[in-house]
Amino acid sequence: MIRNVPGSGGWLEVICGPMFSGKSEELIRRLRRAEIAGQRVLIVKPRVDDRYDVAHVVSHAGAKMRAVSVEDSRDALRRADGYDAIGVDEAQFFDEHIVETVERLVGEGKRVVAAGLDRDFRGEPFGAMPLLLCRAEFVDKLQAVCHRCGGAATRTQRLVDGAPAPFDGATIQIGALDSYEARCGDCYRAGAALSLDAAAV
Ligand code: ADP
Ligand code: MG
Ligand code: ZN
Repeated sequence: MIRNVPGSGGWLEVICGPMFSGKSEELIRRLRRAEIAGQRVLIVKPRVDDRYDVAHVVSHAGAKMRAVSVEDSRDALRRADGYDAIGVDEAQFFDEHIVETVERLVGEGKRVVAAGLDRDFRGEPFGAMPLLLCRAEFVDKLQAVCHRCGGAATRTQRLVDGAPAPFDGATIQIGALDSYEARCGDCYRAGAALSLDAAAV
């Protein structure tokens, strides 16, 4: 793989994949290295979910790096002033203005690393992720381990009381007693059939 960083100016890297695929871990790894290289580094994340640590990005395995919870993409833009490398975690939760915001930061010569879910629990493109993916200089699509069969998971299944969530459920449901599983295509489809059955009842 050839990865030539633009000689002048900034660039966008997008890290996508299902839940548990290591997006936050990879974001932390890259920005930690930028920090070691003496760059001024900032991670922002949307304030939609403040149930956990608002001052850090925390991965499922416990990797942790300080982060700022921002109101919206405008707030993210304001905070990014004076930094060389900007991490954006949970990019799928931002409003559509995140696209202009990222382009603006890149135009100012900053390195932007955006991590987010490429698909929602229905398997549909999530928020502004498709637009970010097509504008990125570098893209990585990570896989998780399927919670059902141990295969390569590319999907995220939302479970309500242990059963797949109905397709007409809200895309973003913070604070509900839902749980999530990473699944491969086959196990996801098996679950999806089940949830359609449940919807028909
Ligand atoms: P993401 O940000 O993509 O949700 P994280 O970076 O928070 O992922 O977490 C990745 C870590 O989660 C892995 O390194 C691993 O230790 C742990 N993990 C737990 N369940 C799984 C799974 N089903 N597949 C892969 N990693 C998992
Ligand atoms: Mg994450
Ligand atoms: Zn599977």
